[in-house]
Amino acid sequence: MQGLEGQVLAHVDMDAFYAAVERLDQPQLAGAPIIVGGGKRGVVAAASYEARRFGVRSAMPMFEARSRCPQGVFLTPRMDRYRQVSRRVMEVLAGFSPLLEPVSVDEAYLDLTGTERLWGPPAQAGMAIKRAMQQATGLTCSVGIAPVRFLAKIASDRDKPDGLTVVGDLEIFLATVSLKEVPGVGAKARQRLGEMGLTRLVELRKLGPERLERVMGVFGHRLWDLAWGRDESGVTPGREVKSVSNEITLEADTGDRQVLAAHLLGLSQKVARRLRGQEFCGRTVTLKLKHRDHRLVTRSITLAQATDAAGEIFAAARELMEAYGAPGPFRLIGVGVSHLSAPGQGQTELFGAEKTGRNQALGRAEDAIVARFGEKAITRAAQIPASQASLDQGPSKGHNKVKPE
Ligand SMILES: [Mg+2]
Repeated sequence: MQGLEGQVLAHVDMDAFYAAVERLDQPQLAGAPIIVGGGKRGVVAAASYEARRFGVRSAMPMFEARSRCPQGVFLTPRMDRYRQVSRRVMEVLAGFSPLLEPVSVDEAYLDLTGTERLWGPPAQAGMAIKRAMQQATGLTCSVGIAPVRFLAKIASDRDKPDGLTVVGDLEIFLATVSLKEVPGVGAKARQRLGEMGLTRLVELRKLGPERLERVMGVFGHRLWDLAWGRDESGVTPGREVKSVSNEITLEADTGDRQVLAAHLLGLSQKVARRLRGQEFCGRTVTLKLKHRDHRLVTRSITLAQATDAAGEIFAAARELMEAYGAPGPFRLIGVGVSHLSAPGQGQTELFGAEKTGRNQALGRAEDAIVARFGEKAITRAAQIPASQASLDQGPSKGHNKVKPE
């Protein structure tokens, strides 16, 4: 009826992750309202539950957080450290099922179907996950378990922090789900549906599929399924190691091709360096663009030959941008490389060994320079001044990304 018969899917979400890691590293901050954020966009990336009591929320401008919570401890994000802890988090989860799909640094889906003999029924498995996480990382997480993916996600959010929500009877749980909780239903859609007197997910059943699609556009079709508890999307394991990507949120939204190309170059260099650092080459280059209205677009191209050269990644990403053609403005741009293999593996001689060798030599020289002088030492002609954008990875960005093509 719902997803696949008898599925047990878990969604695990670390509680106030960045703030929790900061407290872990600075135990004297226990009990203090911790607010992590700032950077170029000047918004809150994470707030401890103590800070939330003052009304501080993620994505709130920092100045507002400061006025609501003047006694707060304000910290700048340390993405490298969060990624390091994130790896440990994912290792813990991988111990419970090989079907693990990280969706961000602090969040993952886990398919627990058929693990009952190992971990017991869902509630017991959930407790075991929480205990293991606490022991291995010193951090709390919230777990939702359901027969379908979207309800596992909603359930994990029900009882934060340190929560565990198991969806037993699908119909009973569905009846409690408000539209506000459903991923993908934005404020505008809620308003439109609200004007029709609809605030709960199950109430959409009254509309019928055609009307729902007229009101909601293409998303209406999926929403119709969700209203009946149907969600075919399972857990896609292992995506986290299959690609390397970097993205930046632009300081100001722009559609200027030259500015965007300059960012693409910087991002391509970063991705190339990370690939070389991990001794990977990749064949598929993905461009990611977020429109001003938050519409996310990804475009991919598969190269004849795997690469770890910034120039080749840049050329492909730029081509994708030109092919996409939409004028923007865009608020975020990203570049990823997937289909990874070790250098030399699966490479054809299409472009000739000489060119490959030279590109790789260039790349390695670049790595050496960065290692000696730091990131900012390398600036190429097409690159714009650093003031145009934050090349730092903002909150919830820059981790090894996870897009299937
Ligand atoms: Mg979280």
